Amino acid sequence: MGLMTGKRGIIFGVANEMSIAWGIAQQLREQGAELAFTYLNEALEKRVRPLAESLDASLILPCNVASDAEIEAVFKAVEQQWGSIDFVVHAVAFADRNDLKQPFSQTSREGFAMAMDISAYSLVAITRCAAPLMNEGGSIVTLSYLGATRAVPNYNVMGVAKAALESAVRYLAAELGEKGIRVNAISAGPIRTLAASGIANFRAKIKLMDDYAPLRRTVTQTEVGNSAVYLLSDLGSGVTGEVHLVDAGFNVVVSA
Ligand code: NAD
Repeated sequence: MGLMTGKRGIIFGVANEMSIAWGIAQQLREQGAELAFTYLNEALEKRVRPLAESLDASLILPCNVASDAEIEAVFKAVEQQWGSIDFVVHAVAFADRNDLKQPFSQTSREGFAMAMDISAYSLVAITRCAAPLMNEGGSIVTLSYLGATRAVPNYNVMGVAKAALESAVRYLAAELGEKGIRVNAISAGPIRTLAASGIANFRAKIKLMDDYAPLRRTVTQTEVGNSAVYLLSDLGSGVTGEVHLVDAGFNVVVSA
């Protein structure tokens, strides 16, 4: 018996084998979870489908989270296949590359709205569809970063979106707690992924971890996955509305 045996859920945010969502999916499967996956577009489907199949995925569906219709279609398909779900992993974020390079005050209105829509509002839209399928309670986990609470160089509009995301976690947790649905975020240390490659001078963030984090390194996708298992399984049954740090202790030190 694994910690997730008998539990079914959907993973939003696998792009490739470097994705944090992939690290989470592997740990969930190892603990016995049954998984459904979504992919953003046809180009990514080619990468996501074989990965999902290797974990015996029940469903592999397209979903651009900027579209309510596409989110609704995912949950309709999942309802038809499973009837109910136990968990959701939201590991999706996007901002225009230029907005992650230029001074923050230069962020365009459109760039700001898009980062907020895809990186923060999508959690609200996904939770709205997931909650009615969580008949016996459930658990939702999203991914955040230190830039939500500190002004991290070059993180810019994404930091503002992560602040909104962490706030949304608290409001969703407050609303859904009485239905036995828990909502939490994992604030992960910097990890080399496709999304991270859009952040200017990302290498410097890894170097800071190597130099100053109490563990003298950054974290891995597997370590984030292990914390996700804790929050999504019954081990985390008393935890909701939390931002759980998986950052090698970086948050506790002064870096210069
Ligand atoms: P990633 O590029 O592997 O994952 C980001 C995912 O978002 C991709 O699968 C991409 O397809 C998806 N996505 C983007 N726009 C979308 C849209 N409109 N609809 C549906 N999907 C969309 O990178 P990652 O680093 O694994 O990112 C996963 C999450 O972890 C993000 O929320 C990111 O902000 C967060 N995070 C990353 C780090 C890091 O250092 N890599 C640290 C902390 C938090």
